[in-house]
Amino acid sequence: MESAKNLPVAVIGAGPIGLAAAAHLLERGLEPVIFEAGHSAGAAIEQWRHIRLFSPWRFNIDAAAVRLLEQTGWESPRPTALPYGGELIDNYLTPLADMPVMASRLQTGARVIAVTRLGLDKTHVRDRDTTPFLVRVEHANGETRDHVVAAVVDASGTWSTRNPLGTSGLPAIGEETVADRISSPLPDVTGRDRTSFAGRRVLVVGAGHSAANTLINLADLSKEEPNTRILWAVRGGSADKVYGGGAADGLPARGQLGARLRRLVEAGSIELHTRFGIAGLKTLDSGVSVESVDGRTLDVDVIVPCTGFRPDLEILRELRLNLDPAVEAPTELGPLIDPEFHSCGTVPPHGAKLLSHPEKDFYIVGMKSYGRAPTFLLATGYEQVRSVAAALAGDHEAADLVQLELPETGVCSTDAGTSCDVPATGIDEEAELGCCASPEPVLIGFPTGLAHGRSGQS
Ligand SMILES: Cc1cc2nc3c(=O)[nH]c(=O)nc-3n(C[C@H](O)[C@H](O)[C@H](O)COP(=O)(O)OP(=O)(O)OC[C@H]3O[C@@H](n4cnc5c(N)ncnc54)[C@H](O)[C@@H]3O)c2cc1C
Repeated sequence: MESAKNLPVAVIGAGPIGLAAAAHLLERGLEPVIFEAGHSAGAAIEQWRHIRLFSPWRFNIDAAAVRLLEQTGWESPRPTALPYGGELIDNYLTPLADMPVMASRLQTGARVIAVTRLGLDKTHVRDRDTTPFLVRVEHANGETRDHVVAAVVDASGTWSTRNPLGTSGLPAIGEETVADRISSPLPDVTGRDRTSFAGRRVLVVGAGHSAANTLINLADLSKEEPNTRILWAVRGGSADKVYGGGAADGLPARGQLGARLRRLVEAGSIELHTRFGIAGLKTLDSGVSVESVDGRTLDVDVIVPCTGFRPDLEILRELRLNLDPAVEAPTELGPLIDPEFHSCGTVPPHGAKLLSHPEKDFYIVGMKSYGRAPTFLLATGYEQVRSVAAALAGDHEAADLVQLELPETGVCSTDAGTSCDVPATGIDEEAELGCCASPEPVLIGFPTGLAHGRSGQS
């Protein structure tokens, strides 16, 4: 950043990791400018504000952000409590984003559509490392503006780019044409989005715990709205891995959740369709017809896609990136988090060095840094941005000293699921706190209970 010292550092996204990045940059005497596509900070979490986090408060807040907040008299929530997404926004992200020091640097309704080097396309190498970046932003008033910055920290998450419903990594044929019949990945079926689901035929697609929680919430809805029909499509031959170990499960909360889901399926309240890879979708007069690869069809009103997420790399097309060919995380990070082999309990802390790209002074952090791996944790991201801010400030010693402080019991107080996008609804908080207090085997991160991070069965 030497040649561009007087320019700001662009932070893409005002989620928890983007705001934490800004706080660390400010502490380092650097000038952040934060571009947030949504109307306010935490716009992605706003979509799942009704979902409870599975990590307690003390692992969900960043140290530099807390140092800023404490100047306002902010009081930290009870460290062992498990917040809902909405509480993370209301009690932490919003007060942080509203601080003048942050608000004056935060542009909302500002969607980054491309990042490049000023005057250089990807093929040009001369003076590349010393040339400022150009960040192209679409602003809410319809204007598109180019912003020149010294460095870029991409903390834009993956929420807006869900995996398609189709097999083979592609959208099912017709998927785009039935877009109005596909909900967001974690709809609030008993609350905000109730009218879209009450009395409807709802197909939940996926075999992770997002699917499990949506199914359980739909079952609750169907008690009050008995015409609601719940269908569940998984690619594997059974849903056993979603059920967990039931009463014998080493993690009681997961066992409870899985056992309840199994009972609902066995009682016929949820119709499970196994080996249902989706090949095509067609609009009907009323609803949509979903066709499996082997020719079965299900006619439904609405589809809930619990199929995971992937990073939007299109906006980074003009940058020289080093990404793992499978996971789409930085090359050195990819093998550490590959869901074929790892659960989130096995991800070591890491910082600027591991996250760097051939494009100097450019970093992908937060959820997006994990590419297609579902195992990202806020605590890991906060350490990422502490290290990245140190690196950008030229303090390489601090940048290299990665130090994720996790207790011996791990971050979790429970494992509500098999991947880290696991909502923890219906779980008894006290039981979880109890679990957190008692010593358990050493874990770094959340145990997923799987030998690897995949939640579905092949
Ligand atoms: C249901 C659920 C529960 C989770 N529970 C936990 C938990 O208990 N503990 C835990 O540690 N982790 C949890 N996670 C994982 C992870 O910590 C969260 O997803 C977290 O929100 C990631 O933070 P982030 O800042 O990287 O991304 P996000 O929170 O997704 O924030 C990204 C921001 O960037 C903005 N944006 C996107 N594209 C652009 C663009 N082009 N230009 C400008 N802005 C853009 C978005 O609007 C958003 O505000 C959970 C995830 C999910 C989905």
